[in-house]
Amino acid sequence: MYRIQDSPKVALRLFQYIKAAFEEQDINPIPLNYYLWYQYYKGDNPQFRQEMDAILKDEMGYSDRIGRRLYNDYFAVDTTTSEFDKALRRLINLMVKKIHVWNEKLDTHSHELEDSTARLKEQNLNIDDVRQITSNVLNTANSMQQTNIEFQQAMLENSQEIQKLRQQLLAVQTESLQDELTEVGNRKALNMAMEQALEEAKEYGTKFCLVITDIDHFKKFNDTYGHLIGDSVLRYFAKVIKRNQGSNEQIFRYGGEEFVLILKNTTLQEAYQRAEDLRNQVSSAHLKLKNSNQEIKMITASFGIAELQPEQDNQDSIFARADKALYQAKREGRNRVITEQDE
Ligand code: GH3
Ligand code: MG
Ligand code: MG
Repeated sequence: MYRIQDSPKVALRLFQYIKAAFEEQDINPIPLNYYLWYQYYKGDNPQFRQEMDAILKDEMGYSDRIGRRLYNDYFAVDTTTSEFDKALRRLINLMVKKIHVWNEKLDTHSHELEDSTARLKEQNLNIDDVRQITSNVLNTANSMQQTNIEFQQAMLENSQEIQKLRQQLLAVQTESLQDELTEVGNRKALNMAMEQALEEAKEYGTKFCLVITDIDHFKKFNDTYGHLIGDSVLRYFAKVIKRNQGSNEQIFRYGGEEFVLILKNTTLQEAYQRAEDLRNQVSSAHLKLKNSNQEIKMITASFGIAELQPEQDNQDSIFARADKALYQAKREGRNRVITEQDE
């Protein structure tokens, strides 16, 4: 994912590099190329940078076609980010236009200065001529300063706009990873978190426990009270889990009435204790219907826990062991916690 949070100064410097490179290598000044070269000089994506370096060393050099391929390989994004991407391109287009205008203005200014310098070299200037030339130079200097200020302001506005876009993107991404009903991570988030936890385990040797929990006889509950109240219970269940969420803990809704916890740097015994606490809290709650104040049947949940075996586990294998423990908990009568060791 690209990050652009440059001060106007940085953006300006990058655009100056780009302008020089485009002139030197005869590259089309189209937005796509500006975008890629911006990313290149910015250097946030080392792989992309490496490939660009290789392309630039090659005889063939850079071309629009290569640019399109690079864009697809490195920066084309999925549907959640494509709106952001469009907006970002629009902004870059705008910046490019402003830079063109700015360059033209600077060109005019430097021509004016050249004219004044040439005039100063003329013979037989009288004092009025010199006054006139000096006043021209001062005017030019003032306009240059003004142009600079306007440009800085425009760049500042652009980078603020980009900041705003980044925040919107972040919000969209967060939404796409959250379960709407219970506001814990959804299944996609769980997959991503598992992948990351497994990678961390490989790289740093950090272990984790996986807890799967499933509400008992929830079908019957729904049949008795209806789906809407069933939904409230799911929200309540998630709230109970979130209430004591530890800093090492991630919570997800895996499906229907099943939730998953990833507990990092936690032993099987500690994970058991956490699940036992949850089981107690849920089963001892007295839930009431909002409207009638009528007490509803107590709900319970079963838990299965597995601990990462760093050498051999993948997502599926650790999941299967936790699921097997959960199945065992159901078989032994529900409302209980079973770890893979208990089986
Ligand atoms: P067990 O103790 O073996 O887990 O029994 P169970 O009835 O909970 O298990 P089963 O998997 O047969 O049923 C799950 C039920 O969960 C089916 C469905 O009615 C209910 N359910 C799944 N998703 C939702 C949901 O989003 N809202 C509501 N209200 N109910 C749901
Ligand atoms: Mg179930
Ligand atoms: Mg169930």
